[in-house]
Amino acid sequence: PFDVLIVGGGPAGAAAAVYAARKGIRVGVAAERFGGQTNDTMAIENYISVLETDGPKFAAALEAQVRHYNVDIMNLQIATKVIPAAEPGDLIEVQMENGGRLKARTVLLSTGARWRNVNVPGEQQYKNKGVAYCPHCDGPLFKGKRTAVIGGGNSGVEAAIDLAGLVEHVTVIEFAEQLKADAVLVNKLHSLPNVTVHTNAQTTEITGDGSKVNGISFKDRATGFEHHIDLAGVFVQIGLIPNTEFLKGTIELSKFGEIVIDAKGHTNQPGVFAAGDCTTVPYKQIVIAAGEGSKAALSAFDYLIRTPIA
Ligand code: FAD
Repeated sequence: PFDVLIVGGGPAGAAAAVYAARKGIRVGVAAERFGGQTNDTMAIENYISVLETDGPKFAAALEAQVRHYNVDIMNLQIATKVIPAAEPGDLIEVQMENGGRLKARTVLLSTGARWRNVNVPGEQQYKNKGVAYCPHCDGPLFKGKRTAVIGGGNSGVEAAIDLAGLVEHVTVIEFAEQLKADAVLVNKLHSLPNVTVHTNAQTTEITGDGSKVNGISFKDRATGFEHHIDLAGVFVQIGLIPNTEFLKGTIELSKFGEIVIDAKGHTNQPGVFAAGDCTTVPYKQIVIAAGEGSKAALSAFDYLIRTPIA
C-alpha cells in the first residue's frame, strides 16, 4: 500500500506529491490528466516568481518536478469511489474506473473543478481567444477593451466590478429577471459609470472574426428582441463545479459539492485529506491550490507519524 495516495494531478496534487515524497514515504498519484486545468490556460502571469508562462509548459513542469522524485505516477486513471478506513490506522481503498483498487494509509483528494459552460455557438471556438472564465487571471488581457460578463450571481457581479476597474466597459448579461448577487455588490455595480446591466436576457451567441471574439448576441426574454454588442472579451461566470460527484455519500461535501476541509486540509474521514479547487478553500487559483496541496501533504505526514497501524 501507499503511505500517501494522491487522487488528481493538478497544481494541488503535484505540490502534495513533492512535499510527501520529500519525506521519504511511498507516494502515488492517480490522475485523469496530469496538470489539470492548467493544460487549458493560455497565459499564466500570476504564479509568483514566474513572470509569464503558458499552460502546457506549466503542466509539463509540474509533472517533471514530480517525476524527479520517487513517485508512482498513474496517468489516465479515474477514481470512482473512496472506501474510508473502518477505524483510524486502517487502510483506505480507492476504486478506479478500470476496475483497479489502490490501497493507502492516507488519501489526498485534489480532483479540482471545471467551469460551467453557457453552451452557445462560439464559446468552444473562442475559448482562450476572448472567451475567459477567470477575471483574476485574464482580466488584465482586456485592458482598455469592451467586455461582457455572463452571469449576475455573486461571481458574475464580482467579476464585473473587478473588470470595470481594468477595461473600458462591461456589459453584464443575466438570464433571470434580477441580479442574484448580494445587495451590497449589486449597489456597488450600479454605482460604476462604465457598466451596463441587462437582466432577463439570454445569451444566444459569442461571435468572432475566425481568430478572436468580436461580439456577443443576446435575446431580451420579455420582448424576444435580439441585441448584438461589439466587444473583445466575454467572461463566463455561471458556476464552478467541483469534481467530487464520486465522493457523494462517503466524504462530507458543502451544498456546492466542495469537499469540506479544515485549516489543515482534513476531511471528515480519518486519513483522508483534500486540497485545491475541489475543496471549500476560497479563491480558486494555481498558487492557492499549490499551497493547499503542500499543506495537506504535511497534514497527511503528521497523521502517519501519529497514528499506529491498525
Ligand atoms: P485541477 O487543476 O482542476 O486538477 C485536478 C486534477 O484531478 C487533474 O489532474 C484531473 O485530471 C484530476 N481528476 C479529476 N477527477 C478525477 C478523478 N475522478 N480521478 C482521478 N483524477 C481526477 N489560475 C491561476 O492562478 N492563474 C491563471 O492564469 C489561471 N488561468 C486559468 C485559465 C483557465 C482556462 C482555467 C480553466 C483555469 C485557470 N486558472 C488559473 C485556475 C487554475 O487552473 C486552478 O485554480 C488550478 O488548476 C486548480 O488546481 P487543482 O490541482 O486544485 O485542480
